[in-house]
Amino acid sequence: MVCNFNCIYCQVDRSGPAEKGTDLFSAEPKINLSPFLQHICHELKETLDLVKTGRISSLSPFDRIPAELRHLSDIAISGDGEPTTSPYFYEVVEEVLRIKGNFPIVLITNASGLNRPKVQHAIDLMYQHNGEVWAKLDAGSDAYYREVSRTNVPLQDIVRNLILTAQRHPIIIQSCFNNIDGITPPPDEIERYSLLLKEISESGGKIRLVQIYTVARPPAESYVTPLAEKELTLIAKKVEEITDIPTEIYG
Ligand code: SF4
Repeated sequence: MVCNFNCIYCQVDRSGPAEKGTDLFSAEPKINLSPFLQHICHELKETLDLVKTGRISSLSPFDRIPAELRHLSDIAISGDGEPTTSPYFYEVVEEVLRIKGNFPIVLITNASGLNRPKVQHAIDLMYQHNGEVWAKLDAGSDAYYREVSRTNVPLQDIVRNLILTAQRHPIIIQSCFNNIDGITPPPDEIERYSLLLKEISESGGKIRLVQIYTVARPPAESYVTPLAEKELTLIAKKVEEITDIPTEIYG
């Protein structure tokens, strides 16, 4: 899957020329949708069958998961790119909802496509079927956002899209903070980031939770390293000081 961001902490190497900074939303559909949808639906049905019957526990690598962790929390629409760049996003969501039964469904997104009418439509459908949006916000200032996300999508568009979506449905914000060249996120950056969260709330947007995390897998850039738990805690404290939104940290 492609992405219109090129985050310095992404676990996928996005240095190839085809994706970098491209405006993917104007891309013309290039595939015949029907076989593609049939394929993913078949795979999803098979996987859900394995889960429902418990047969998945006998297969590698799931057989190595401790018994108390063997459950399916949700079906995430995510992949290794930005799902809303797909011209087929609505159709895929519709099909997944048809198959998924009672399992929750989560859209993990960089928020850049949330203003598209068809995407909003798909999100409305998701929320009618135990769905939720988990959207990225990794900065407070334009300069830091550009350094981290390396995209030509303006930060103000991201904030606008978060407001638009959170006004319709409660969302979760996911924020990844790291050391960059050994330097922790500057305090004024964290303050500006917290103020953006406040702006979303004060615009009538409902943020159910802010998840603050750091890199856990090898990132695209070697100069990106994980924050210590105490640094993540400081960021969470600042968010809770400036907003009334609950936070969780993942170190
Ligand atoms: S938005 Fe997600 S998939 Fe895209 S580059 Fe950033 S971390 Fe990677």
